[in-house]
Amino acid sequence: MAAEIQSPSGRHEVIVVGAGVVGSALAMALGERGVKALVLDPDLSGRLSSSEKNAGGVRATWWQPVNIRLCLASIRYYEALRDEVGFNQKGYLWLYGRDTWESALAHLDLQRQLGHRIEVLTGAEVSQRVPEIDGLDGVAGATFAPRDGLINPNLLKLHYQSRSRALGASFADRVFVYAIRRAHDEVRLECWQADEALSDQALARIMAQDEIGDAQGGRLFEVRCSALAVCAGAWSPNLLKLAGLGSPTQAVRRQLCLVHCRATNLAGHGMIVDTCGLYFHNEGQFILAGYSPPEEPPGYSFRYDGEEFFRNEIWPRMFARMSCCERLRHVGGWAGLYAVTPDRSAILGVAAEQVFEAHSFSGRGVMQSYAAGQELASLIVTGRPGRCDARPLSRERFAAGALIPEPLHI
Ligand SMILES: Cc1cc2nc3c(=O)[nH]c(=O)nc-3n(C[C@H](O)[C@H](O)[C@H](O)COP(=O)(O)OP(=O)(O)OC[C@H]3O[C@@H](n4cnc5c(N)ncnc54)[C@H](O)[C@@H]3O)c2cc1C
Repeated sequence: MAAEIQSPSGRHEVIVVGAGVVGSALAMALGERGVKALVLDPDLSGRLSSSEKNAGGVRATWWQPVNIRLCLASIRYYEALRDEVGFNQKGYLWLYGRDTWESALAHLDLQRQLGHRIEVLTGAEVSQRVPEIDGLDGVAGATFAPRDGLINPNLLKLHYQSRSRALGASFADRVFVYAIRRAHDEVRLECWQADEALSDQALARIMAQDEIGDAQGGRLFEVRCSALAVCAGAWSPNLLKLAGLGSPTQAVRRQLCLVHCRATNLAGHGMIVDTCGLYFHNEGQFILAGYSPPEEPPGYSFRYDGEEFFRNEIWPRMFARMSCCERLRHVGGWAGLYAVTPDRSAILGVAAEQVFEAHSFSGRGVMQSYAAGQELASLIVTGRPGRCDARPLSRERFAAGALIPEPLHI
C-alpha cells in the first residue's frame, strides 16, 4: 500500500485525480522527473476501479501505430520486473474470421517494423499449438505473438505506487473531488474526505452522480496546484465537466466469467481471442473468459448477470471452439467499466491550460499504463512528447476529424 497522507492541504506542483494503474504510473513517472505529485482517490484500494476488474492481458498486437508503440514500451518495462508484477509471457493467440483476416495480414509489416514479434498460423497449426481447439469453423487464419502475455494488474499498480512514494509522491485516501476552479495561474480543487471507507454502494453513487449529496461527517477542504492530471478512468468525464471541459468518453459495463472445465485448464497457454471477440485464459484452476456484447448500453453499472451471462454469451462460444468445454461449469464472475471513446483509442494529452488527462483506455489501460504515465509526465514537465510520441491520442483529434480507430478492440 502506498504512503497515505492523512490531511492534504496547500499548493502542489501536480495533483493527480485517480489512483488506478494509470494515475499511479503517472505519479511514478513524475517522481522520476523530480516532481512530487499528490494523488487523490475516494478509495485507494480501488474496489470499483477498472484496474481491479480487468483480465490482465498485455499485448502489442494492435493495428494503430501509437497503440503498438505504447504497448511495446510498456512490455519492455514489465519484462524487467517479470517476477515482481507477475508478468507471464505465454503469448496471445488471435483467431481471425474471413472478414478480418486480409486486414490482419496487411498489418503484419507495420507491426514487425515497430518491433513486434508476430507469427502467422494456419487453422491446422492453431490446433497443433492448442489441441483443445478442435472446432475451426469460420477461422481464416491466426496470429501468435510470443512476447504478449498476462500480468497481475494489482501487483503492477502497487509497484507504481511504492516507487512513486519512494520518489516523494503522496497518496490521499477517501478523498472525493467535487468542484474544480481554474484560476489564471493555478487550479483549485474542492474535496470531501470521508472519515471512514465508504461502502461499494456509496462509492458507486457519489462517483457516478458526481456529487457528495448529503454526506455526513468527514471534512471539506481545498487543495491547489499548478497542473491537474485527470486519470479517473471511466469517471474522467465527470471530473472534466467539473473543470468546464467536455469529453466524448462513455462508461460501458464489461463482464468476466470464471469457469471450470474438468477436461482441461489451458495452463500452458496465454490469452486466446476468438473470431467472435470471446477472449479467455487460464486462471489458477479455472478459466477466465470475457465477451463484450455490442448492444451493451453506456452507464455506471456493476451488475454481474451471472449464470445468464455464462449460458447465453460464454458457454456457446467456448463450446463451439472446444468440444472439451461441453460440460463447462460457471464458478462466478464480476463486472467492471470500460471507458470508451468513439474511435476506441485512449485520450492522453493537454485538456486545457493547466489541465492534463490520460483516460479512456477501454481494454488496454493496464498494458499501456507504464508508457502512458511516461508520456503524460513528459508533457507536464517539459511540454514535449516522450519517446513513444502519443500526440495522436490528444483530444484535438475529435475536432480535427483525425480519429484513430482501433479495430482490434475487444
Ligand atoms: C472486464 C474488463 C477487462 C479488462 N481487461 C483488460 C486487459 O486484459 N488488459 C488491459 O490492459 N486492460 C484491460 N481492461 C481495461 C483496464 O482495466 C483499464 O483500462 C485500466 O484499469 C484503467 O485504469 P485507470 O487508472 O485509467 O482507471 P481506474 O482503474 O478505473 O482508476 C480510476 C480511479 O479514479 C478514481 N476516481 C473516480 N472518481 C473520482 C473523483 N471524483 N475524485 C477522485 N478520484 C476519483 C476511482 O476511485 C479509481 O480508483 C479491462 C477492463 C475491464 C472492465
